[in-house]
Amino acid sequence: MYTAPFEYRKADTVDQALGWLAADLENSKILAGGHSLLPLMKLVLAQPQVLIDIGRIEALHGIRTETDHVQIGAYTTYRELVESPEIGEFCRLLALSAKSVGDVQVRNRGTIGGSLCHADPQADIPAAMLALDAELVIEGPDGKRTEKYGGFVQAPFITNLGPGDILTAVRIPKLPPGAASVYVKRPHPASGYPLIGVGIWMSFTGGAINDCHVGITGIADLPYRPRHLEDFLKGSSLKEETIIQAASLAGDEADWDGDEYKKQLLNVYITRALSQLGESTVAKGPNGDS
Ligand SMILES: Cc1cc2nc3c(=O)[nH]c(=O)nc-3n(C[C@H](O)[C@H](O)[C@H](O)COP(=O)(O)OP(=O)(O)OC[C@H]3O[C@@H](n4cnc5c(N)ncnc54)[C@H](O)[C@@H]3O)c2cc1C
Repeated sequence: MYTAPFEYRKADTVDQALGWLAADLENSKILAGGHSLLPLMKLVLAQPQVLIDIGRIEALHGIRTETDHVQIGAYTTYRELVESPEIGEFCRLLALSAKSVGDVQVRNRGTIGGSLCHADPQADIPAAMLALDAELVIEGPDGKRTEKYGGFVQAPFITNLGPGDILTAVRIPKLPPGAASVYVKRPHPASGYPLIGVGIWMSFTGGAINDCHVGITGIADLPYRPRHLEDFLKGSSLKEETIIQAASLAGDEADWDGDEYKKQLLNVYITRALSQLGESTVAKGPNGDS
């Protein structure tokens, strides 16, 4: 399939891209890695007349650490996330989920900003974004704002992003030293997208779980955080009986509308995630990391 004709522009600055977007909100689209937008255009599900490539904008590249968070430019690719020492040290869950996206070509081109703005409910990264309490930096006609990733996605493929807005960066609070992280995924056999993806990080005091954040993607209409599973896990230790109870609690929390397959999938993948965390902390001590 071929796309409808379009004009291609390459912006040098965020302001230039914002100006071009504002000039024709209806017909312009931001182009990042193109791994979601170009297939949509080829299927004629999107027909922008102007594509604004943001790949050359320096301000959208790079990963830097601040006192309490890591700031990631929106044009950072999955591969850069996987290979970044800063991400590995301060928010490893993001590297683990980025590593499981697609294949090497997708990871070389696809960007964190593109994935979050596309808001596919079966994407990998959102599980980590929720569990890590990520914050988004957005620039638009009314200036710059920040908002929590939790709440940014309103419905599948629909976000709080206005037509004239650009996501410029993602901020992730640093995890406590020694926090353990895991991401497990059941890939769809044809597409490789997650039928379910479970991301968890936890910290320990002695042998007990001190804090624990869980993000689940793929299985529900929107990625979500199972808060009462997190509450249940806090204060316990990763013993076999705790893991069994936690997995069944996770399945009970959501409304599966009689879908036993989804309930079982959740049970199995929560069990796998917690078991991997348990094995790594037994192997390395309670501050180990999987
Ligand atoms: C073969 C294949 C396999 C894949 N497998 C997986 C998988 O296993 N897991 C997974 O999660 N994903 C998978 N993907 C999707 C992939 O992750 C995409 O790269 C990602 O969804 C989009 O990122 P992008 O940079 O390519 O964005 P683009 O396709 O360029 O853009 C996507 C959308 O976001 C908008 N946009 C992009 N950047 C910005 C910005 N900074 N500000 C405002 N709007 C912006 C665009 O206008 C467009 O609407 C796969 C894709 C392919 C082609």
